[in-house]
Amino acid sequence: MPAQPTLSQITAHLAEIRARIDQAARAGGRSGADVTLIAVSKTHPAETIELALAAGQRHFGENRVQEAEAKWPALKERFPDVVLHLIGGLQTNKVKDALTLFDVIHTVDRPRLAASIAQHAGELGVRPACFIQVNTGEEEQKGGIPPLETDGFVAECRDVHGLDLAGLMCIPPVGDPPAPHFALLKKFARRNGLAGLSMGMSGDYECAAEMGATHVRVGSAIFGVRA
Ligand SMILES: *Cc1c(COP(=O)(O)O)cnc(C)c1O
Repeated sequence: MPAQPTLSQITAHLAEIRARIDQAARAGGRSGADVTLIAVSKTHPAETIELALAAGQRHFGENRVQEAEAKWPALKERFPDVVLHLIGGLQTNKVKDALTLFDVIHTVDRPRLAASIAQHAGELGVRPACFIQVNTGEEEQKGGIPPLETDGFVAECRDVHGLDLAGLMCIPPVGDPPAPHFALLKKFARRNGLAGLSMGMSGDYECAAEMGATHVRVGSAIFGVRA
């Protein structure tokens, strides 16, 4: 296993990434304050997450409900201002658990899931912010609504399910230049009146921030490589 990072390393990484985001956002004609940095803590133990919390980080991303359930309830109790983002695929049988723990869902990508989120959110009395994941690269193995079905699915999530739609999310195919995917996501968001763009990871968050991301999801550049 890779060595766990120290507090000073995590603090320095966060400051460096924040500065790069601010610079990229300004280059794109915006303010760095328009970009939320989500620290992706998947696979990292609670002790490492605590270091990022000590460094002042409050937005975190996890990709698996079960893993998050093992780490986050205790941390959220101690740090009630944490905002937890689900960035991995969500199965309908995990929706209730997910909505109990997560504040924001980035991976709404099919009608059955949207319906299940609406139903459980109503029962739990919560209004999670939702991003619709778009499969901009049309990859078979990847989650996300196909690009051509995006407008219709946005309307369904809004008008049929009454979800609180924050925006759109994408994960460009490995090896593709990310910019065309980010541009497509932005175009779809604009024409659907959605303000949020969840795009950009360790390798391309500056490009994303310059192109209009409101949320970047950064893991390894903060915590180091995952086991
Ligand atoms: C793991 C993950 C990230 C972070 O990836 P890094 O390359 O480590 O920054 C971002 N988004 C999603 C959806 C992920 O699963």
